[in-house]
Amino acid sequence: MASIFSKIIAGEIPCYKIAEDEHCFAFLDINPLAKGHTLCVPKKEVDYIFDLDDGTFLQLQAFSKKVAKALDETIPCIRVGSLVIGTEVPHAHIHLIPFQRETQMAITSAKMKIEAEEMKAIADKVYQAFKNI
Ligand code: 5GP
Repeated sequence: MASIFSKIIAGEIPCYKIAEDEHCFAFLDINPLAKGHTLCVPKKEVDYIFDLDDGTFLQLQAFSKKVAKALDETIPCIRVGSLVIGTEVPHAHIHLIPFQRETQMAITSAKMKIEAEEMKAIADKVYQAFKNI
């Protein structure tokens, strides 16, 4: 059965899209630790990130770097942090978190409530920035 992320990539489940290229897709995390918390996902569905073939792994890293730069340009933050957890959704992904406090990098920290309108505004801004990188 397709993962929830494969369904998002296929457009079967809605998301706040951030970026896409031939191999990867990025969208806002639905339960963000910080404004702009983004998930970067390879289109190829593999559970564990360190089981990806080298080519896909490197494509995901390079894609995440571009998305991080777009986040840096658009979201006020100290830095964009990067996390790999993967215990909730069995489809490899990298969390990118534009943090204003280091505690926002802890996956166990409280999640933010961000209204749909603001999520869309964030996604639109980052999407535009990504296109210009
Ligand atoms: P992990 O697998 O790295 O522990 O966490 C998976 C992440 O995916 C969580 O931060 C969770 O909020 C996010 N997530 C789970 N389901 C959905 C979904 O349907 N849409 C979006 N945008 N994010 C999701």
